[in-house]
Order: sequence, then structure tokens, then C-alpha cells
Amino acid sequence: MTVAIIGGGLAGVATAAYLVEGGVSPSEIAIFERDARLGGKVETAFFGDRPVDLGPDAFLTRTQDAIGFAEMVGIGDRLIRPSVFSASIYAKGRLHKVPSGIMLGVPVNFKEFFSSASMISLAGKLRAAADFVLPKSQLGEDYTVSELVGKRFGREVEEMLVEPMLGGINAGSTKDLGIEAVAPMIKNAYKKSPGRSLTKNLVSASPKSSTATPAQVPFGSFSNGLSELIDATIKYVDGISIYEGVTVAEVTEDPNGVRVQTTDGTTYNFDKVVLASPAFSAHQILQNISSEARRGLSSIDFASVGVVLLRYRKDSIRAQMNGSGVLVPMSNNFLMTATTYASRKWGHISSDEYEIFKVSVGRFRDTRFLQMNDEQIVEKVSREIEEILKIDSSPDLTLLKRWDKALPQFRPYHREMVASIRGAVEANQRVALAGASYDGVGIPSCIASARSAAQRLLDWTK
Ligand SMILES: Cc1cc2nc3c(=O)[nH]c(=O)nc-3n(C[C@H](O)[C@H](O)[C@H](O)COP(=O)(O)OP(=O)(O)OC[C@H]3O[C@@H](n4cnc5c(N)ncnc54)[C@H](O)[C@@H]3O)c2cc1C
Repeated sequence: MTVAIIGGGLAGVATAAYLVEGGVSPSEIAIFERDARLGGKVETAFFGDRPVDLGPDAFLTRTQDAIGFAEMVGIGDRLIRPSVFSASIYAKGRLHKVPSGIMLGVPVNFKEFFSSASMISLAGKLRAAADFVLPKSQLGEDYTVSELVGKRFGREVEEMLVEPMLGGINAGSTKDLGIEAVAPMIKNAYKKSPGRSLTKNLVSASPKSSTATPAQVPFGSFSNGLSELIDATIKYVDGISIYEGVTVAEVTEDPNGVRVQTTDGTTYNFDKVVLASPAFSAHQILQNISSEARRGLSSIDFASVGVVLLRYRKDSIRAQMNGSGVLVPMSNNFLMTATTYASRKWGHISSDEYEIFKVSVGRFRDTRFLQMNDEQIVEKVSREIEEILKIDSSPDLTLLKRWDKALPQFRPYHREMVASIRGAVEANQRVALAGASYDGVGIPSCIASARSAAQRLLDWTK
């Protein structure tokens, strides 16, 4: 079986690895990647003499997807964990610890939430307690996060806690994000239990944790940054053809297989294709599918974001830095949405002299940074971090990375729409879709998506 993989991000290279694992010869696999390097959103760069991630810097280890994949490609023993974990929230002009007794910003232990949520006013806390008495919310099969969480706990909890945590991961708003796609555990807990209170339902749905062993930080990475995962995967699939700097223009099926045409007019023939490029790219490439499937592909919105690395001398920082970083709710009207204390979070990039900050800007509907030039963005976020951490100098090293149309926005009924798109695209068992646009933005989801796409191809040829 000859296979073309369009898009050499994590989902693309992982698909190649799972095909090889499933018995396909590397010589029968080709990856076409528009950029001059593989990895897509996974990119590690040297910042000074330290390897720092410009895209994702960690993956969740609550499922085996990422760890199992790392083991398969031979770097399971290189896994590292963050040195620090919990974040702070910047609100009302100061840093607050993320309260205890919450899950994704939603109160699950009201006593702890009440005493520790210093960024929420008394009125906001009392409003949150209305969850216990409000009648059961009558909702459809899928709905926005805001429709459940905002209505039960009020605006303050939504804007100060849930939006920075859940909206932050997706660079989106709780008012748009579909709960099934971004917080299924919350939706399921509410749906399955007849109780009216979301807090009580979440508590009864959570597995009772054992206190015998201290919980491990549920995140991982590698000491040369996440690009190590891409490099190891490329090594694992040694012998495949890699076309870098090559953009695919069109994929068409014919009775003998699939024809891949690149923008320079060259055509290649394969038995199967895996489209592991974002949905808007798949929309351009797949001209001959049903108009409904094409509408579905084009309807998936994307948020553009930027990452700014800043290096400051440690002795110029006067505020206490706790945990792994700061979340910045929208009410601050800052350009930054969050900052990771990168050199605190990751021991391998720490130094005695400097702190490295990884600042995020941009989210869906907040495109202010797109109208700014690089210097303006770096200048603005530097002033913001200096205000938050009371820094009395300027950064001595900076780097800006723009990620255009980077994070897909999952609306209610995303899964159903993806099932219907796949039904049309994959009907002839020749073209499969994989990647963040369809199955989730997190690294483990992209790996699971790749594994599943590779398995479908293998099943189609049985
Ligand atoms: C700033 C940032 C921080 C993040 N942080 C985290 C994190 O900490 N943890 C986490 O789990 N996730 C994080 N994510 C999300 C995660 O990185 C992505 O969802 C994931 O890497 C996407 O992988 P992918 O292979 O699906 O897509 P991509 O990485 O987008 O790869 C798709 C590839 O397709 C190529 N392509 C597009 N069109 C064509 C074409 N016509 N022909 C050929 N090639 C084409 C693109 O150039 C690209 O390389 C972050 C994302 C960003 C942007």
C-alpha cells in the first residue's frame, strides 16, 4: 500500500509511525509538508543557549497516548516533568493563587473555593453558590461552556476562572466553545446525574482519589524540548520520502487510487492519502467532495496566536513568582493572555542569572496583535509582564513567533459535524482525515487521531 501524508505536523509524522508499526514499508510512505521543516506547531528554538518551545511545551499524561507513542519511537526514557505546576491569576492589580477546590475553573469543593478564591468578590461567590438552588438547567445534546457554567455560577467565575483556564487552552471563549469537545467530563457529569447542582454532580462523578501516593504532575515533555518527539519519530520512520517546502494543491480520487498534485503542477499517484493538514487546507485540497462536507470543513474557525519569549535578569524581578506562570483574564484588557515562567517550569532551561518568560497573545475574536508590528507586540507585553511582576529593567533578549490560524475552535456539535465530514471524505476508503482540527488540539489527541487514521487505512486494505 503506497500512502501520501499531507502535512508534516505531529499528526502527520505520527500517522507515518503508526503505519510503519502496522507493517507498511517506509519506502511506500511519503510526507508532503508546506514548510521547510517538519513539526508544524511543534517547534523548539534556541533562545540564548537554551532550547525553548515556541508552540506546545507540555502534554497531558493522564492518558497513555503521548507516553505510549514516545515509548514506541524510542524516547520513553527521556520524559521529563515540570518542576512547578499550578499557576496564578492576575486580577484587580495583583497576583492571586489559583483557588483550591476547583476543576477547570468550576467549583467542586465549595468550602475550599469560598475561602481561597481571592479574585472573586463576595457577591460573585454568593452568585456561584446559586448552583445549589437553581433548577436543573434544561440543555440540548450539546451547548457552549457558558450556557452551563456561566448560568450556574455567574459571570465572575466564568470570566475569572473558567475562561482563562479552559478558554486559554483553546485560545477561545467560553461563549463559543462547545462543551462536548472541550470539557466532556463536565457535560457528562451534569447529564448523567439527575441532581440540579453541577458542583454536586461533578463530585459524585469524580473517581475517589487515593491519598496513599502523591499524585504525579500530569504533564510531560523532553529535555531538548518537544521537537525531540518529532525528531525521534522521523528516525523511527527512516526510509520514508519527505517532501519539505512542497504545498499540495489538490487531491483527487480515481478508480486506481489517489492523485496528489502540488502547487508547482507535479503529480504523484498513491493508493491512499491521509490529510493531516488543518481543515481550511483540507477544504482547498478536496475540491471533489460533497458541498456539505466542504461547507463543514470551511466552517471550522481558527484562532491566530503569538508567543513572545522574554529574558530578564533575576535580580530585577521584585514580585514573588509562584508556580508555573500567570493566567490573565480578559477583564485586565492586556494584550497577553497568559505567561509561563518557562525557566521555573522546566529545570533544563533554568539559570542562576535569568528568568525566561513565554508570553501568549491573541485568541479568537481578539486579533489586536495582528494589527501590530513585531516591535510593538514585544514592547507591549514587556511592559505588561513588568507591571505584573514588578520588574525594574527591560528584557535583554526577546523573540516573537506568530502562529497564523493555529488553534481550531470547536463549537457545539463539532463531533457530529466531523463524523459527517469523514462520512463523505472517507466513503471510498482512500482518503482519511487526521489532526487537531477534527479530534482535539492537545498533543495526546493529535497522536490518537493519527493512530486511528493509520488503523483505518490498514483496515481498508484487509
Ligand atoms: C502556541 C501554541 C501552544 C500550544 N500549547 C500546547 C500545549 O502546551 N500542549 C498541547 O497538548 N497542545 C498545545 N498546542 C496545540 C498543539 O500544538 C497542536 O494542536 C498540534 O501540534 C497540531 O498538530 P497537527 O499535526 O494536527 O497540526 P499542525 O501542527 O498544524 O500540522 C499541520 C501541517 O500541515 C502543513 N500543511 C498545511 N497545508 C498544507 C498543504 N497544502 N500542503 C502541505 N502541507 C500543508 C502545515 O504547514 C503544518 O506543518 C499549542 C498550540 C500552539 C499554536
